[in-house]
Amino acid sequence: MKKPLWNKTLVIFILSFTVLVTSVVLFPSVTAALFDENQAFYYLEQQLSFGPRTPGSEGHSKFVDWATAELTNSGWEVLHHSGLLSNKYEFTNILAQRDDGGEDKPWIILGAHYDTRFFADSDPDPANRTQPVPGANDGASGVAVLMELASALPKTLDKNLWIVLFDAEDQGRISGWEDWCLGSAALAEEIATSERKPDAVVIVDMIGDKNLEIYRESNSTPALVDEIWAVAAKEGYGHIFIDQEKYRILDDHVPFLEAGIPAADLIDFDYPAWHTLSDDVSNVSKESLAIVGNVLYSWLTGK
Ligand SMILES: [Zn+2]
Repeated sequence: MKKPLWNKTLVIFILSFTVLVTSVVLFPSVTAALFDENQAFYYLEQQLSFGPRTPGSEGHSKFVDWATAELTNSGWEVLHHSGLLSNKYEFTNILAQRDDGGEDKPWIILGAHYDTRFFADSDPDPANRTQPVPGANDGASGVAVLMELASALPKTLDKNLWIVLFDAEDQGRISGWEDWCLGSAALAEEIATSERKPDAVVIVDMIGDKNLEIYRESNSTPALVDEIWAVAAKEGYGHIFIDQEKYRILDDHVPFLEAGIPAADLIDFDYPAWHTLSDDVSNVSKESLAIVGNVLYSWLTGK
């Protein structure tokens, strides 16, 4: 009998080797990050494609429709929390919820503002100061991270979770607008009068800066900041989440702090393009979105 050229063992070995190589080549990121930075960056670019998201603008209403549909598609219960401000503007906070109302697990709110500022009043060129801010970092970055988390987080989490996109954060010191953080103040006021209170509120704002450095924000609840910074250090981002205070910032976490709810603000306030026309896609990066997204993912899931 002629010895077969391909014996059975060799064929099995070659087939197994081929399957192994193919799976490594085709699916290299099976164990890589669950937060997809490309998808997060797509969410940022989509917001910019609507134009400025100033209150009452076409870009603003396009955003509300788009974000509502996306979050619904990601499997969230989405509702609009609306009301009239003293200047007669009807705000819309977008609330995406996975919440059974039970007290047996923690209730966490993640928030970011989606409105962009009417005027680039910090622009070095006075001619630009009457133009609206594009809001790639100041607006779109925080929202992009939360929308990708909404898509990436496991549906079964041992937490009641709300992802809230706030309106009317960024119009302070503008005539006809009484203050900053009006959307979050309205929600915090309602929550303050209800029996059940969230265990933590974490705000992300201006976290897309290419040169990302997030200092501990001085109004934030220290124990909550400790928790998140410890996760960041464990993930190797100790040089990004810097364990020192630098700024005290009035942001969407403050109304919740005033209601006695632990809250933290993740913000990189060293951003030269802040409130200028240069707050555009050239000054943000997907790597920065991914760092913040991965830290929050790990903080929420323990993974
Ligand atoms: Zn701003």
